Amino acid sequence: MISNSVNPFEEVKKQIDIIKEKIGIDPSVAEQLKHPRQIISVSIPIKMDNDRVDIFMGHRVQHNMWRGPYKGGIRYHPTVALDEVKALAAWMTFKTSVLDIPYGGAKGGVICNPKKMSEDELERLTRRYTSMIIDVIGPFKDVPAPDVGTDSQTMSWVMDTYSSIKGYSIPEVVTGKPISLGGSFGREGATGLGAAICTRNAAKKIGLKLRGARVAVQGYGKVGFWSAKSLDEMGCKIIAISDTGGCIVNKNGVNPDKVKEYKLKTGSVYEYKGCKNIPSDDIFELDCDILVPAALENCITDKNCDAIKAKIISESANGPTTPAADQALFEKKIFVIPDILANAGGVTVSYFEWTQNLNRDRWSLENINRRLEERMNIAFDGVYKVQKSRDESMRTAAYILAIKRLEEAHLKLGLFP
Ligand code: NAD
Repeated sequence: MISNSVNPFEEVKKQIDIIKEKIGIDPSVAEQLKHPRQIISVSIPIKMDNDRVDIFMGHRVQHNMWRGPYKGGIRYHPTVALDEVKALAAWMTFKTSVLDIPYGGAKGGVICNPKKMSEDELERLTRRYTSMIIDVIGPFKDVPAPDVGTDSQTMSWVMDTYSSIKGYSIPEVVTGKPISLGGSFGREGATGLGAAICTRNAAKKIGLKLRGARVAVQGYGKVGFWSAKSLDEMGCKIIAISDTGGCIVNKNGVNPDKVKEYKLKTGSVYEYKGCKNIPSDDIFELDCDILVPAALENCITDKNCDAIKAKIISESANGPTTPAADQALFEKKIFVIPDILANAGGVTVSYFEWTQNLNRDRWSLENINRRLEERMNIAFDGVYKVQKSRDESMRTAAYILAIKRLEEAHLKLGLFP
C-alpha cells in the first residue's frame, strides 16, 4: 500500500544512502541496490464466473541475486503498486542477508481483490500469472511463496502450472505449499514464531517479563494469528486484536485459536464475545507492553506514534513504520525489532522447505523449530551487537549487517563482464 506521503521504494533508496554514509560502502554496490535487476509487468486476462473477461495487472520484481536465487512472496491485494513490490523485493534481499540465508530478494504482486473473487477465478488468475512469468521463475532462478492474500492453495496452483508446462513434478519451484505436496512442517507458523522468538530476545534485553506481558496484534491473517499464538504460548496475554473489520480488547486476554475460529465463521475478529469493540486504528493507542503490526505498510506514522505506549514493537509485517515515525520511536526509546529481522522466520523455513524438496527429504517439526530458533537467535544477536557497538537503532544495525554482507558478496563476484 502506498500512502499519499510515503513511497516505500523511495524510502528504501534513502535507507541505502544512509548506510552508505555511515559505513562507507562501495558506491557501485549502493547504486546497484537502488535498482532492481529485473521487473516483469503483465496484463493477465481472466474469464470471470459471469463469462466476462477482466484484465488484472501483475508484477514480478527481482531485486538482487548476489547471495543466491531470487526469493519472495506473491501478494494479491487491490492496493498493490509497482513501487510497493519493488520495496518488498528489496526488503527480501536485506532480510535473507540478515539471516545469512543463501537467497537474493524478489516479490510479486497482482492488483485484485481476492476477498471478492471465487475460488475458480483465483485459480485461473494464479495459473495464468504463473504461465506469464514462467521464464523468470524456477527452483534455481526465483522461488515464490505466499504473502498477503495468497496461501498454500495458491502455491499448489503455481507448482502445478509450472510442473505441467515443464513436464515433471517440481515442488521446489515454490515454498509455503501444503504438507501433502512437499510443504514443510512449521512453515505456516514460521513468520509468527520467528517474530515471537525475536520479541523474547528483546524482552530479555529490556528486562520485561514475558509471562503476563500484554500484547496487541494489528492484522489477524496468517502472520498475525501465528504471532499471537506463539506469544500466548510463551506466556504473554493477548489483550487486543484488530483486522479490517475492527478491533477487540479484553484486558484479561483472549485465546488466539478461539478468535481465529470466530474470524473464520464471521469474516472478522470484531464483536468477539467478552470484548470491548473499538475502531481498528485505535489499537495503536492501547496500553500494552508489546505491539505487533502484522497487516500492511505505513500504519505506524507521525500521526499515531506519539500515542504508542508499548515498550517493544515487533514488526511482523513488512514496512509497517514510516521513516518519520521510526525516528520518533527511537527518540522515545521503544525497542523496535525491524521487519527485516522480526518477520524473517517465514523465509527461513521457506529455505528449509526448498532444501528438503531439493533433497527429496522430510524433516520433523521439532528439527525445523530448533533450526529456526537457532537462526533467529544468531541473527538477533548479530544485529543487537552492531546496535550496541554503534549506538544505532536496531533497524539501522540490521541494514548495516545486511548491506555489508551484500557488499562482500558482490566484491568477491566482481562485475560481469
Ligand atoms: P494475510 O492476507 O494472511 O493477512 C493480512 C491481515 O491484515 C488480514 O487479517 C487483514 O484483515 C489485516 N489488515 C489489512 N489491513 C488492515 C488494517 N488497516 N488494520 C488492521 N488489519 C488489517 O497476510 P499475511 O501473510 O499475514 O501478511 C501480513 C504481513 O506480514 C504483510 O506485511 C506481509 O508482507 C508480511 N509477511 C508475511 C509473511 C508470510 O509468510 N505470509 C512473511 C513475512 C512477512
